[in-house]
Amino acid sequence: MHLDNIRNSDMEIFEFIEKEIERQEMTIELIPSENVVSYSVMEAQGSVLTNKYSEGYPGKRYYGGNQFIDEIEKIAIERVKKLFSAEHANVQPHSGSGANMAVYMALLSPGDKVLAIDLSQGGHLTHGHSLNFSGKLYNFVQYSLDEDSLLLDYSKIRDVAIKEKPKMIVAGFSAYPREVDFSKFKDIADECGSLLMADISHIAGMIAAGLHQNPTPFCDVVTTTTHKTLRGPRGAVILCKEKYAKDIDRMVFPGIQGGPLEHVIAGKAVAFGEALKPQFKKYQEKLLENNREMARGLLDNGIKLVSGGTENHLILIDLTDLGIGGKIAQEVLDSVGICTNKNAIPFDKNPPMNPSGIRIGSPVITTRGFSKEDSYLVGELISKVLKNIDNETLLNEVKEETKKLCLKYPLYK
Ligand SMILES: *Cc1c(COP(=O)(O)O)cnc(C)c1O
Repeated sequence: MHLDNIRNSDMEIFEFIEKEIERQEMTIELIPSENVVSYSVMEAQGSVLTNKYSEGYPGKRYYGGNQFIDEIEKIAIERVKKLFSAEHANVQPHSGSGANMAVYMALLSPGDKVLAIDLSQGGHLTHGHSLNFSGKLYNFVQYSLDEDSLLLDYSKIRDVAIKEKPKMIVAGFSAYPREVDFSKFKDIADECGSLLMADISHIAGMIAAGLHQNPTPFCDVVTTTTHKTLRGPRGAVILCKEKYAKDIDRMVFPGIQGGPLEHVIAGKAVAFGEALKPQFKKYQEKLLENNREMARGLLDNGIKLVSGGTENHLILIDLTDLGIGGKIAQEVLDSVGICTNKNAIPFDKNPPMNPSGIRIGSPVITTRGFSKEDSYLVGELISKVLKNIDNETLLNEVKEETKKLCLKYPLYK
């Protein structure tokens, strides 16, 4: 990586970047919302485009000198429209949260009723959490998963929707390990006269590769982050039907954002270009296979998974039977070089700061090149750790194993 200038000019920051490179290099990263971008994406983001002010949209800027920036943003838009078969795309949102904010503010009025899944059942903060702007500005009501299967129960969602008559239904999840049938959400939205928004932040990569149903044809609006399974730079996009294009664009700018981050938009364009290539489909297929194998490595060792398994890039481990909390589990796994995140399980009886679950997934290890055998082994290693959190000898053995795996698949060396 090119760090020669910062090495000479700012030792303090340089040292921590070096340490972070080493941490990423020597950690089995299983946080399912993370990924590792290509050098090309990083080069775009680290380019001179960061110098430019480009308030407005291609062809309609408030500053001069945007003739090349315009071309880059237009390419980003065309590529992402192609990836998801969208009528319109806005590639300027700085983050997933901002994208959702722009959609709500464009299509709803304060106090309007929105139906979404609860954060504790796999939703996102921006789906109506009381501490988030969404929960403060709008009247969010919740649907929940089926209590036995822990799967989406579309007839139950329909019942709540008919009773509540929401202005909008949000179909989107941050911790749901199963496939989503957006066409069923569409039927419900039509029956209730609701708008339908899908937030595909987590599963965008699989959708782009044609390995998960694409919600775009069924939805008024689709939002997604670009940095999760889609493997682009940190940021987001909004896709929508042509009839909402003007309102959405106006709400992103000047509604809630000022100047766009054109260096990041260039990174998005590069990532979308990568996602349009056949290798990307291979990557997503491998990611799904690795995740299934990791789940098998856990299940074969008696670890309980929410909904009994996985159909995507994500696994939610239920720690209840092991008698340990998510906080300790995350810390002990961290100590052996396996990075996960504590997460609520549906109908969790424990508080968010120490929930009963751990959320893991295969995006990063797949980018690194882990095989399905390695992925199964990672599942086994996690099982060992979770069942022996006080066994120093065993934890040290696992630490050696994770080190071996990390050295076998270098990230940057
Ligand atoms: C990650 C995520 C977001 C928010 O992304 P940020 O870029 O962190 O703001 C929104 N919705 C869902 C479903 C997500 O998983």
